[in-house]
Order: sequence, then structure tokens, then C-alpha cells
Amino acid sequence: MAQVTLRKVVKAYEGGVQAVKGIDLDIADEEFVVLVGPSGCGKSTTLRMIAGLEEISGGEISIGGKVVNDIPPRDRDIAMVFQNYALYPHMTVAENMAFGLMLRKFPKEEIRRRVDHAARILDITPLLERKPKALSGGQRQRVAMGRAIVRDPKVFLFDEPLSNLDAKLRVQMRTEIKKVHQTVRTTTVYVTHDQVEAMTLADRVVVMNNGVIEQVGPPQELYHNP
Ligand code: ADP
Ligand code: ADP
Repeated sequence: MAQVTLRKVVKAYEGGVQAVKGIDLDIADEEFVVLVGPSGCGKSTTLRMIAGLEEISGGEISIGGKVVNDIPPRDRDIAMVFQNYALYPHMTVAENMAFGLMLRKFPKEEIRRRVDHAARILDITPLLERKPKALSGGQRQRVAMGRAIVRDPKVFLFDEPLSNLDAKLRVQMRTEIKKVHQTVRTTTVYVTHDQVEAMTLADRVVVMNNGVIEQVGPPQELYHNP
């Protein structure tokens, strides 16, 4: 069964910009799909519609077989990772990771178990009591992923998560993200404008241009014959 389904999905912003012009896409369970394309092509809008952060103007989006058009973000079975990390500066790493589960009233022991488990996957156990300001960019990025992993959602959504990092760290974190996916196997939709990043990470690349999907396929098929 497809884990995420888009049917004739349209987004028209106020003022008449048609950011997304009726796209269809099926994303399989455990698949890592990367949306790639030039700035302004509608990648981020598409991701935000899947997240529920942007209302859809037409069509239908399903997650885990359930139509989510009218379901608010926190009730969709998703977790999102942003480029600016959005960590709470006054909380420790452990508290940042625990926060989403505390909001959802998870028992304390379960929260601790999940935070410890995610910290081991990300290799950040020694950082759990630190505040975000005492972390490097790469470490902050790991904590942001940790917050997503502890939720154990059906789908991870990444919006240009590496674009604030320097080139060397970007390459390193790419490997890290791939490793995390191979461990947790969570269905992933990942947005980037970077073709190399798309090729390295994706099971399937979705090339968008001007609000439509231009090409879909595994990286080796797409970029060998441009
Ligand atoms: P990408 O992520 O590929 O760079 P976006 O999805 O951010 O593209 O934007 C797609 C189009 O929608 C662009 O033309 C952009 O200017 C427009 N757009 C994005 N957000 C808004 C908004 N809040 N209001 C109006 N237009 C927007
Ligand atoms: P409390 O002292 O009431 O547990 P804290 O602010 O210390 O509150 O922690 C908030 C949440 O973060 C708790 O639910 C706790 O389970 C989790 N947490 C705190 N420290 C750790 C840690 N070192 N490892 C795993 N989880 C932690």
C-alpha cells in the first residue's frame, strides 16, 4: 500500500500564483523520495501540504490510507525536520527531543526509552543534558532528527534540512540521514534544490518544474541521460 498519495493536488496562493498545478504521486511504505527542482518550482509547497501546514486548493492527499485534507498537522502521522532546526533554546537536548511526546501525554518511562533509543541511533547520548547553544550545526541537525525519530511517525518530511550547513558537513549529514533511514525504515519525503543530494539519498527522485512533476524515477535512470 502507498504510504503517501497525492491525487490531482493543486495549490493556488492568494494573488493567483499557481504554485502546484495538479500533481499525482504514490510513495510506498519505507521509500525515500526526494523532491528536487529549481527555486520556486513548488517543492516546499508540496511538502507543506503533506504536513498540513498549507491548505490544499484542490485534489486529495492521503497518509497511511487516510485522507488528511481536513486534518491538522499534529494529528497527521508525520514528523517534520526543518533547515533552521527550530530547537527550544532554554531546553536541554533530551527535553527538546521529549517535547512532542510530552505534548501528546506519553508516559514518562516511554518518553525516556524513546529518547535514549533515538540518541543511540544518532550517536548523541553524551549531549542529552546540553543546551542547543552548546552544540555544533551538525549536532543540532541530529537533535532535530531525534525529535522526529522519537515520534515514530508513518512519514518523515524534510525541508532542505542541510542548507544551513557548510559543504563538508552537508556531505557528512547526508550519510547520516541515509544511515538513519536504513535503521528506522520510515517513509521519507525530502525536499532539496541540490541534485547531488537528491541522487545520493533517494530511492526515487521526483523532478518538479513550474508546479508540475516533470520526471520520476530512481536516480541512476534520471541523471545518466539528461
Ligand atoms: P520551492 O520550494 O520549489 O522553492 P515554493 O513551493 O516555495 O517553491 O514556491 C512555489 C511558488 O509559490 C513560487 O512562485 C513562490 O513564489 C510561491 N509562493 C510560495 N509561498 C507563497 C505564499 N505564502 N504566498 C504566495 N506565493 C507563494
Ligand atoms: P523531569 O525531571 O520532570 O523528568 P526533565 O525536564 O528532566 O523533567 O525531563 C523532561 C523529559 O525529558 C522527561 O520526560 C524525561 O523522561 C526526558 N529526559 C530528561 N533527561 C533525559 C535523559 N538523560 N535521557 C532520556 N530522557 C530524558
